[in-house]
Formats: sequence, structure tokens, C-alpha cells
Amino acid sequence: MIFKTLLSQALSRPATNKFPAKYMPRSILGFLAKVQEGKARIHPPVPVPPKFRGKLAYDREKCIGCQLCIRVCPAKVIEFLPEVKKIRIHVARCTFCAQCVDACPTNALSATPEFLLADTDRNSPNLIVE
Ligand code: SF4
Ligand code: SF4
Repeated sequence: MIFKTLLSQALSRPATNKFPAKYMPRSILGFLAKVQEGKARIHPPVPVPPKFRGKLAYDREKCIGCQLCIRVCPAKVIEFLPEVKKIRIHVARCTFCAQCVDACPTNALSATPEFLLADTDRNSPNLIVE
């Protein structure tokens, strides 16, 4: 049984791909320089499945400031901006549960396929949605 499993896994295609380079480059900076020169290509990530819950998108115009999203957020990552009656989402602490998306009465919130969110600064513009 174990031999059968080993054999089938050895012969099947990997479920993931190597990212960002097909093989580990000797120098990451050298690899990125080659990418800029068009001599190397960043390996694209695998496509996300349908209904994937990635980084949130916020349509500020549609938001009526009802704060329902804030009430349902289990991670408490949505901040209310009283002066403008809008919200700010701190994506670094988001669990991507999409409860805010389901609760929003005006469809101002949606989950996007974006998942490459690694950053050294939790307050970088890429991790703040407003
Ligand atoms: S996806 Fe979940 S954790 Fe993230 S902001 Fe919405 S309710 Fe909060
Ligand atoms: S639930 Fe929707 S409309 Fe209400 S504050 Fe949140 S984003 Fe705005």
C-alpha cells in the first residue's frame, strides 16, 4: 500500500510550482536584475481556485458607513473613520474569512484573488485598504 502511494506520488505532477524562480538562483538580487533586463522570467504562481478569498477590495463610493463589517470582523481589523464615515482595513491582521463581505449591505467589500502580501512593514500602503 505504501509502495503504491509512493509510486503514484513520484509519477504525478506536483500540485504547486516553484516560485518565484524555477530553480533557486545563486543570488536573488542578480536574478531580479536579470528579470529587469528581460533575461529571466519570474515564475507565475499557480492560479487560485474559484471563490478564493484573498486581499479585500473596498469601494469607498458604495460605503454608507453603517459599520456592520466592523461588528462582524472577528479579528477586529477594520477601523471606522468618523470624520468621513468610511472605513480602513488593516490587511496585515486580516484572517480572510470574508464575513465583512457577506455582511456589507451595499457590496462595498469584496475578496480579490490577490494573495502575495508578504511585507516587512505591517502599515505599508499595500497592507492598508481604505
Ligand atoms: S475578511 Fe474577516 S478578518 Fe478580514 S476584515 Fe473581513 S471580517 Fe475581518
Ligand atoms: S458594511 Fe459595507 S457599507 Fe457598512 S461600513 Fe462596512 S463597507 Fe461600509
